[in-house]
Amino acid sequence: MSDAFHGAEFCWMNGEVIKTKHALVPAMEPIHLSIFEGIKAYVEDDVCGKGRLNIFQWKPHINRLWRTAAFCGLKIPYTKEELLEAAKKTIRANGFKTNAYIQPRIWPKAETREEVNVVIPVWTFETILGKGNPKFSKERRFMISSWRRIASDALPPQAKAWANYANSALALREAARLHYDGAIFLDNRGFVSEGTGACIMTVRDGKVITPPVTASILESITRATLLKILQEDLGISVEVRDIARLELYASEEAFLCGTGWEITPIMSIDDLPLGGEYPGAITRRIAQYYTEVVTGKIEKHKRLLTPT
Ligand code: PMP
Repeated sequence: MSDAFHGAEFCWMNGEVIKTKHALVPAMEPIHLSIFEGIKAYVEDDVCGKGRLNIFQWKPHINRLWRTAAFCGLKIPYTKEELLEAAKKTIRANGFKTNAYIQPRIWPKAETREEVNVVIPVWTFETILGKGNPKFSKERRFMISSWRRIASDALPPQAKAWANYANSALALREAARLHYDGAIFLDNRGFVSEGTGACIMTVRDGKVITPPVTASILESITRATLLKILQEDLGISVEVRDIARLELYASEEAFLCGTGWEITPIMSIDDLPLGGEYPGAITRRIAQYYTEVVTGKIEKHKRLLTPT
């Protein structure tokens, strides 16, 4: 194994910062029962032009990790504050001065599930956000997956368990095989669900519409944040309701939202182009505002940021 994982020399494991190459576990551990979180820290420019890294929405992320753990019968032997300190320490140990991704992972050491491993890998990432970023406006052709999103009575998609991502991987492989950039799932009732690692929002008649939690989606923190700020700050009406497949094709705009995917515009679905302009005006406005929120430019939303 190389010294670094995604360029990070250090990670945190079971109570201490260690070299990533030393983060090894016995092969027979029940990794299929593992859970995780995906959290981002963005650079905030201060008056001196020096970057300060702030974790976006730490609290809801760590609360979701605790919810997933409780549901899966895993007992986390640390407090939420201890894990925050661990994440900060790991970022500092790696000397990151740029946007960083934090991915706490937990899984049982044995089938008894009495003891768990807690690992916090971190790595840097390149955002697609920011004015004039060509990655943002890149043309993206999506397809409706022939795989349905896992139903809540099989595996709960509301929880962030790695097992759920086997379903996502099938959809991604199918999309890659058919030369699409990504896939959108329908739920087991045939309504629009979510992407393979992000939620979906569509725009119709200037209104943003997104499926409810009962449409087999993860309880997304980005989605919850947007639902609040779009209405309150940007005056964009939002509607949470089931979306029929045809409505998706008839959307003026559509985008994915999530910690990893940030705000990702979708150009076409099943080769049917959405609306006219790409990326659409509302998607661009939302992405611009979201960028300002995560980078600490909006005073009243600074409370969503935790300094590292
Ligand atoms: N759905 C799935 C399947 C995901 O993996 C993610 C990424 N965590 C999301 C939605 C978006 O969730 P969040 O906004 O909390 O990152």
